[in-house]
Amino acid sequence: MSKPRAIEILNEVFGYPAFRGSQEEIVGTLAAGQSLLVLMPTGGGKSLCYQIPALMRDGVAVVVSPLIALMNDQVANLRTAGVHCAAVHSGTPPEETRQIAEDIATGRLKLLYVSPERLVTERFLRFLDHTAVSLFAIDEAHCVSQWGHDFRPEYRRLGLLAGRYPDIPRIALTATADAETRADIKHYLRLENAPEFVAGFDRPNIYYQVVEKNGGKKQLLQFVKRQNGESGIVYCLSRKKADDTAAFLNENGIAAAAYHAGMSMAEREAAQHRFTHEDGLVIAATVAFGMGIDKPDVRFVAHLDMPQSIEHFYQESGRAGRDGLPAESWLCYGLNDYALLRERIQTGGSGEFQKQIELQKLDAMFAVCETSECRRAALLRHFGETIPPCGHCDNCLHPPVRQDATENVRKLLSCIYRAGQRFGAGYITNILRGKADQWIRDNRHEQLSTYGIGANLSDKEWRGIIRQCIGLGYLETDPQHYHALRLTEAAVPVLKGSQTVLLRPPKREKGAERSPKET
Ligand code: ADP
Ligand code: ZN
Repeated sequence: MSKPRAIEILNEVFGYPAFRGSQEEIVGTLAAGQSLLVLMPTGGGKSLCYQIPALMRDGVAVVVSPLIALMNDQVANLRTAGVHCAAVHSGTPPEETRQIAEDIATGRLKLLYVSPERLVTERFLRFLDHTAVSLFAIDEAHCVSQWGHDFRPEYRRLGLLAGRYPDIPRIALTATADAETRADIKHYLRLENAPEFVAGFDRPNIYYQVVEKNGGKKQLLQFVKRQNGESGIVYCLSRKKADDTAAFLNENGIAAAAYHAGMSMAEREAAQHRFTHEDGLVIAATVAFGMGIDKPDVRFVAHLDMPQSIEHFYQESGRAGRDGLPAESWLCYGLNDYALLRERIQTGGSGEFQKQIELQKLDAMFAVCETSECRRAALLRHFGETIPPCGHCDNCLHPPVRQDATENVRKLLSCIYRAGQRFGAGYITNILRGKADQWIRDNRHEQLSTYGIGANLSDKEWRGIIRQCIGLGYLETDPQHYHALRLTEAAVPVLKGSQTVLLRPPKREKGAERSPKET
């Protein structure tokens, strides 16, 4: 009897008419016995990528999963579809484990879910030595990496599978796809030569726009009013701001509710219930809001403050337009957000290595805010996907003009340098504009050669230049020293005059933001 084909299993066992995106290619590759790495966003359909090959190949597929709840979910789903499978973890009673071993021996069981700790025990490995294993699937593979948000040291030991079972194909799957995480997965899981499948991160129906903060809340109100009473989410950096924003929207005639971890369980459930069942409600929330919301028709996601990483931004903005209909992502950011987030990271509880990672993630997010290129291309590049300009984001539809700003940038960099790289944006701007306050006089900085050389520009214009210089990597802020501005390596050629710098000129005040509907 011939082996069932992938498409037949998809139709008959899982009841779906067609594969999604690169699922078919992935299934074919793994079923043919080749190891690979799959990067797909949450909800992209990773499970079928190994479940179908498990049914196509002889033996039992061993699936490593980090959480008992995830394993139980998968097992329940597969059993509904009539697939023989089981899970073994710390909570599995011994008699059940014995039954599972028997089912494997008789070839009845097609998939076995197991925790990483369990898998790498010598006892379990000895059992596998005498078992026909069809494939190894390593779910949530980013757990090997400290770049991810849930590092699990025992995941690193899974690399031993490559040496012990060289002929059994392995598939690693994750939704976290930045370059560092990918490199870690390949290294620790010994998938150096395995092909990578990166797919499905693009959300073509979301229109992305980023605006510079200029009174935040008012800008938000204008944006929400353009949404014609549709429901959406507004993310804020603090609980208090979420409360204030909900109140502010209500005062301005927009039905809104707050959601954050400072509220009681009952209050949170009530807010979530309203959001799911009422038309046109806006939720003003912290990052606490999101997990388990199943509302496909969220029409917009606004970020009133800059998120701490591209991953956060992507996940949060991705809650818009799950139904595939047009939706908007709107992000409002300022230099203060950036400085505040840096400070949070520095004063937070993470170890030094982790802090460095978090700071780099923050810089990557800031660079997306500052970029003049296609937003979608910039976001997707972070996840390893390359696309041409999308034609459907703010920068594609209204390409920012850029002008030679080398002279002003040099004034700024040299002023920061001469003042000793110990001061923040406000202080430096005052020197440039020749506005000596007591602090500047105490430091005798009104005697610097750069004092007053930037009087031709306003405070706001200087702040715009400073922000862009951070985004372009010429400057960084020192969170341990009152957000002092410091030059980076990249600033040297600019200071020496061997490099020109193109910047966006200051924004037009009115009508600076346009929705896609107006174009
Ligand atoms: P992930 O693990 O990537 O987050 P899942 O494997 O849980 O995603 O799949 C998300 C949802 O998409 C599930 O409900 C799954 O049944 C469904 N799905 C996956 N592939 C297909 C497909 N080819 N056609 C229809 N639905 C699919
Ligand atoms: Zn674009």
